[in-house]
Amino acid sequence: MDQLGIVLIVGVLVISAWILIPRIFPHPQMVCTRCEGTGAVDEKWPNPDEPSGWHELKGQCPKCDGKGKVKAA
Ligand SMILES: [Zn+2]
Repeated sequence: MDQLGIVLIVGVLVISAWILIPRIFPHPQMVCTRCEGTGAVDEKWPNPDEPSGWHELKGQCPKCDGKGKVKAA
């Protein structure tokens, strides 16, 4: 009976930690590495796969959709 009680308490603790931890850290986010948090990109580098021979991208960052932050993995 004692062992069952311990198992029960540990189980409740694990479940409440599982529920509580995401609430304490609601949306773990980190600064977007592509736009460095600005949300906008101004990229240009040679890319043979592109028809123009260049990779060109200016404006909203496609990685974070212009938010400047991405969800931490
Ligand atoms: Zn970005």
